[in-house]
Amino acid sequence: MAPLTDKLAACSVTQDALPMLEKARADGIATVWDRHAAQEPRCGYCDLGLSCRICAMGPCRIDPFGEGPQQGVCGADADIMVARNLGRMIAAGSASHSDHGRDLAETLLAVGEGKAPGYGIADEGKLRALARELGVAEAGRDALAVARDLAGEMLEEYGMRKGRLGFVGRMPPARVEAWKRLGVLPRGIDREVTEMMHRTHMGVDNDYVNILLHGFRTALSDGLGGSMIGTELSDVLFGVPVPTTSTVNLGVLKADQVNILLHGHNPVVSEMVARAAEDPELVALAEKVGAKGINLAGLCCTGNELLMRRGIPMAGNHLMTELVLVTGAVEMMIVDYQCIMPSTPQIAGCYHTKFVTTSPKAKFAGAAHREFSPENAQALAREVVREAVENFPRRKPGALEIPGQTVTQMSGFSVEAVLGALGGTPQPLIDAIVAGKVRGAVGVVGCNNPKVKHDHGHVTLTRRLIENDVLVLDTGCAAVANAKAGFKTPGAAELAGPGLRQVCKALGIPPVLHTGSCVDNTRILHLAGALAKALNVDTAALPLAGAAPEWYSEKAVAIAFYVVASGITTFLGVVPPILGSPNIVRLATEGLEDVVGAKFVVEPDPEKCADAIVAHLNGKRRALGLTV
Ligand code: SF4
Ligand code: SF4
Repeated sequence: MAPLTDKLAACSVTQDALPMLEKARADGIATVWDRHAAQEPRCGYCDLGLSCRICAMGPCRIDPFGEGPQQGVCGADADIMVARNLGRMIAAGSASHSDHGRDLAETLLAVGEGKAPGYGIADEGKLRALARELGVAEAGRDALAVARDLAGEMLEEYGMRKGRLGFVGRMPPARVEAWKRLGVLPRGIDREVTEMMHRTHMGVDNDYVNILLHGFRTALSDGLGGSMIGTELSDVLFGVPVPTTSTVNLGVLKADQVNILLHGHNPVVSEMVARAAEDPELVALAEKVGAKGINLAGLCCTGNELLMRRGIPMAGNHLMTELVLVTGAVEMMIVDYQCIMPSTPQIAGCYHTKFVTTSPKAKFAGAAHREFSPENAQALAREVVREAVENFPRRKPGALEIPGQTVTQMSGFSVEAVLGALGGTPQPLIDAIVAGKVRGAVGVVGCNNPKVKHDHGHVTLTRRLIENDVLVLDTGCAAVANAKAGFKTPGAAELAGPGLRQVCKALGIPPVLHTGSCVDNTRILHLAGALAKALNVDTAALPLAGAAPEWYSEKAVAIAFYVVASGITTFLGVVPPILGSPNIVRLATEGLEDVVGAKFVVEPDPEKCADAIVAHLNGKRRALGLTV
């Protein structure tokens, strides 16, 4: 496909993207922006959520202007159609995070059974703390025995013989009571996802409110289930993150080294690759083939996992994953799963880059498949790194261009690290909020989407929030955008309003705290629960908000639903496909406030969105009797 995008400067706000967009054009490579342009004009029915292909009587469409059909062949109206489509998005997002979490639980089980050479328990304290929290006997027992039982307990959460997920206890009693009243207390993770698929089959749940209530329950089985398991067990296996300094953007690639990129979400493979890259024999091999070493860099959330725990530099976020290949400097891209564009092996094939898939769940045409498991990962990681090193001499010098000066960033703000920075309890943060130095806290999270100028939504919103004394916690691709903008060093406190600046300087922290990958949004939820418990209030009472200015993924929909279900109003920068049902729009943007104490706000302009968030936080402060 020939490149279609004429206005390259309109694609991204980042300095490293633009030269690579020019190079892609010169090299005849089409990128996500070109394919986005080729899709215009979009289907209006799909945009509004008014198309359905759930069964073979369809596909069906509903005319939003009221002139054509108002029901599908089965009789589904606009409300049912939109609710079913949305419910299936939540189910897909929850399933994705939760399947990721399950892979961690299975790895922990393999470690406990002595079947995972090279893996181990990196944080025994956290293993034992989790065991106590979930009622697994640990005192006086061997760590591997505890690991086996904890993994078994976590795997039980997927099917669930008991009544509710174990991590529900992290939320304040008032919130848990609200979920009970609404009938959305999350049960087994697989059960909720399966039930959503069942309810949205033709002829099952035909009440849009009932479908959306189950959407909350499904999303909560992600937030307090699959995602939280993913976060917690990654910490047990690979270490609880602590504040670490590293660098970000395409400048982290090195012209004179073997560059290996790690992309996807799950740290199980990438952690083993990181260890293999330190092997003296492979480093010596790199020198033998003319390189000065082996350089690892991350992309998307696998990158965030490595950055948080090992300080491995971050090359870029979602929309940079093609452009990084255009540098011509990448010997190998190793992927696990999620958010890996199907186009990437094709672009890798235009250079000398080897594209390696590792999961039986995520194969790509044109890729070299090396199937990793806990049993073979240690040995296979060395083989794959060796292949990358041997690819270095095939680099085409004329095709190489690495743009950008790296930007320094501080990462690694796990729940433990945040509480550690506060002296062990949330009280100093509560005091700062009460005193008005910190207006409130906002999770700025989520993806990139070519419908939004790359990183513009994240960076503009975050800048305005910190200027208004709002502490920002970020994850995922938003975290990469904010790091590239320079918001993640203690010196960035100078960009914050006077109150937040004072607090950040006193604690030696940036005004934007990187809490990890997409599954690690559960760290933010956990912290919100801890704050509410410390104050003995519902989470809905706190001056908190969520924001996803550039979301694209079904996983983002699941996250937004579990955040709103937790009483935290969430601001979206991309319009979800619900406008075809005015009833659902009213419910999502108004009615939910009375049901869960929070709602969705859609505001594509990040400046206006910042104003709306500040007004929202001020409203919460007034209700608590605090100054604004
Ligand atoms: S479920 Fe109903 S609306 Fe959907 S495709 Fe089948 S007949 Fe059409
Ligand atoms: S934030 Fe979105 S695009 Fe980025 S890695 Fe996560 S799900 Fe994928």
